Amino acid sequence: MGMNSAAYLDHNATTTLRPEAAAAVRGGLGLTGNPSSVHRFGRLVRRAIEDARDAVAALVGARPAEVVLTSGGTEANNLAIRGVCERRVLASAVEHPSVLGAADAIAQVPVDGDGVVDLAALTDLLAADTAPALVSVMLANNETGVVQPLASVAEIAHSHGAVLHCDAVQAAGKIAFDYRNLGVDLLTLSAHKLGGPAGVGALVIAGDVAVTAVNCGGGQERGFRAGTENAAGIAGFGAAAAVATSGLPAFAELARWRDRIEQRIAEAASVQVFGAGTERLPNTSCLAMPGVDSETQVMAFDLAGIAVSAGSACSAGKVEPSHVLDAMGVDAAEADCAIRVSLGWDSTEADAERFIDAWIKLYQRLGDAPTTAMAV
Ligand code: PLP
Repeated sequence: MGMNSAAYLDHNATTTLRPEAAAAVRGGLGLTGNPSSVHRFGRLVRRAIEDARDAVAALVGARPAEVVLTSGGTEANNLAIRGVCERRVLASAVEHPSVLGAADAIAQVPVDGDGVVDLAALTDLLAADTAPALVSVMLANNETGVVQPLASVAEIAHSHGAVLHCDAVQAAGKIAFDYRNLGVDLLTLSAHKLGGPAGVGALVIAGDVAVTAVNCGGGQERGFRAGTENAAGIAGFGAAAAVATSGLPAFAELARWRDRIEQRIAEAASVQVFGAGTERLPNTSCLAMPGVDSETQVMAFDLAGIAVSAGSACSAGKVEPSHVLDAMGVDAAEADCAIRVSLGWDSTEADAERFIDAWIKLYQRLGDAPTTAMAV
């Protein structure tokens, strides 16, 4: 990437559309017909949707019949939490707002200093009340990239008769996993986090789980989600899922640049990397620049042609204290200095180098380092 072009390092907010997905969207837009119509026009659109469903299912090891297509991760999370309505809901304290905000009385399960869900606390919360529960724990966190021990969570949840929902929006296409091996009953996916268009997602629903529709009406998606399908978006989702599946080894390589960023910055300053003590996604780094608040950093990096985010970019525009860092016990002053850097499938080594240079320059200009620490 040339010096004058921008470096986009905010892929957890939304990632670059894969060319294959763009082509599939264009193809879908070229089709006339309602997928519920029985004539040949309708059948062609139906075919495009079912091909995409197959690819999405394959990405996570589900059966196509378990995949309910939605308008995105937020809707899928709402369908999971609200659709299993007879149960009390327990969710980790670091879940996305589309989980934590989907019901009124959600009991929060604490996390440790690295952001990993406290399994003993989960066990206690489940044991304390025999009413049937729905447990919601994400596979990877959007702000820190921290990966949760879902298999252990599943064991605990199921031994207490709970249904387990997993928001895998940030994990899908970034790390390999199989939804059946994880032991998850409900799994949320979103197209625009893995190279597809925004406004499309899915909830994978295991066969034996009772879910009531939130969107009611036409009976599409086997009654789980009424509304004429967004065929073009869904086609893009399918194409992106297929490429993401084959792109997993390349995505894992991003960890080298992520680690290089963290190492070089650690040489320049005593930075805190949140969640660094546990397993993380290969592309994500949440780090604090001592003495410089995150809003200032985001603006300064933007002036330098680098896009990063402060706190959670999913709550776009408004910079609020991160509930994720707060749940990890990070003190407010330090959390105020945290930004998220997230690499994507089209990130280059030059992007990483450019960020490192800009970070060090900014820290030397505005950071709280004594001058002796600036010999970089
Ligand atoms: N869950 C997580 C972990 C996310 O990072 C996001 C990001 O927006 C969502 C859910 C919501 O997905 P969508 O943007 O498709 O509604």
